[in-house]
Amino acid sequence: MTGVPLILYNSLSRALEPFAPLDPGNVRIYSCGPTVYHYAHVGNLRAYVFTDTLSRTIAAKGWPLTHVINITDVGHLTSDADAGDDKMEAAARASGRDIWAIARHYTQAFKQNLADLNIRTPTHMPLATDHVAEMIAWGEKIADRHCYQLEDGLYFDTTTVPDYGRLAGAADDAAQGRIDTVAGKRHPQDFAIWRSTPPGETRQMEWDSPWGRGAPGWHLECSVMAAKYLGPAFDIHTGGIDHREIHHPNEIAQNQAHCECADTGATFWLHNNFLVDRAGKMSKSSGEFLTLSRLIERGFHPLSYRLMCLQAHYRSELEFSWENLTAAQVRLKRWVHAVEGLRSRSTAGGGARSADYIAQLDAAISDDLATPRTLPVLDALLGDKKLSADDRLATLLAFDEVLGLDLAQLDRAALRVRPAGATIDEAAIKARLADRKEARIAKDFARSDAIRDELASSGVEVMDGDPLGWDWKLPG
Ligand code: AMP
Ligand code: ZN
Repeated sequence: MTGVPLILYNSLSRALEPFAPLDPGNVRIYSCGPTVYHYAHVGNLRAYVFTDTLSRTIAAKGWPLTHVINITDVGHLTSDADAGDDKMEAAARASGRDIWAIARHYTQAFKQNLADLNIRTPTHMPLATDHVAEMIAWGEKIADRHCYQLEDGLYFDTTTVPDYGRLAGAADDAAQGRIDTVAGKRHPQDFAIWRSTPPGETRQMEWDSPWGRGAPGWHLECSVMAAKYLGPAFDIHTGGIDHREIHHPNEIAQNQAHCECADTGATFWLHNNFLVDRAGKMSKSSGEFLTLSRLIERGFHPLSYRLMCLQAHYRSELEFSWENLTAAQVRLKRWVHAVEGLRSRSTAGGGARSADYIAQLDAAISDDLATPRTLPVLDALLGDKKLSADDRLATLLAFDEVLGLDLAQLDRAALRVRPAGATIDEAAIKARLADRKEARIAKDFARSDAIRDELASSGVEVMDGDPLGWDWKLPG
């Protein structure tokens, strides 16, 4: 890149701030991970496309980084504010399955989602359940000065730390309205560090602690895993905008109690806005919801979804629609087609990056990761006849290290609309199309039409004169 300073919007100050690493040799980032009681919905995945864009930008700036995405396999209640049931326990009860098997299954599915979206594997993906001893030790350290015991667990007194809720900022009052009360809590914002199993009950996941048998609070998990893998002070903490009001203020409170200081843990707190869906399919607890697999079944490539995310700024709400997704897939196809064209005109020498285009791209991405502004620059680059094919290709692929669209590998076969259940043999289609080409050259149009009809009857649409050069497709 060209050395444009990176500016990021810090939720703590509600302002754009220049980013300077605490240690330029190791930028440390923590991203709240998924609660693995079900598949991630595509809204959840927007959060990780965002963190990956952030990580890729940091890496492109030349800073080595350590990135943690945790796996929440215990402790996240159906309400973020300590009310309701543990999501994992509830899922296990509802399905009659073993809770550990559920956690393993959905953790694996999440990792597959990350791979499909070309999200770089984080340095660490710790499981909350592997860190319960450390959570208990953290609780023991802060219990006397900052916590009080209720029948159902150990609670954190939020008045014992400076500035509780600073991160929630102006939204504080509204957020408090969402906090469900637990009998005996001193202040509505107080939250559980440890939740004791009610007498006479057993949970599938429970541990002994000085506060009785039970399970750690969800907020504690992130403080403990962040500090363990990144140290008490690190660079960036990310999560969805919903975490700005409760989960992250609670993490900060725990961090301050632990260090007996005003430090917040991370210097920068970044929040992605939501992917929304008018049909209400963006909530895991709502039953039917949109997963990446469903998009793939409908014939979309996962990277089309990634591009759909990049078409919006991460701090803007993004509406999910099949039209938006289709538009992204068309753009991706156009780029893959352009890459093929440039490759075919490439000379052996290899290209050089265009400093002018890289400067424009760097300026956009450095401005709080303004991905939507980078896309027209790439369109202009691809069509810029003043640059050689090799130089255009080199510039595009260099910047794709930031966008992560895998343009060096992606080919048109991968992007074909391929509805679930279609049984096609690509080699056979190609062979028939070659026969048809011969027939057309020989002006044997009856034969050419017959081949087209034969392909149509097996569900393949021949696309003569398609501007993208896509010679066939499966109707979606
Ligand atoms: P969860 O699995 O519910 O703990 O959420 C995982 C991540 O997805 C968190 O960072 C959430 O803030 C984020 N998230 C949840 N819903 C959405 C959504 N609709 N759009 C974007 N991010 C979301
Ligand atoms: Zn978290």
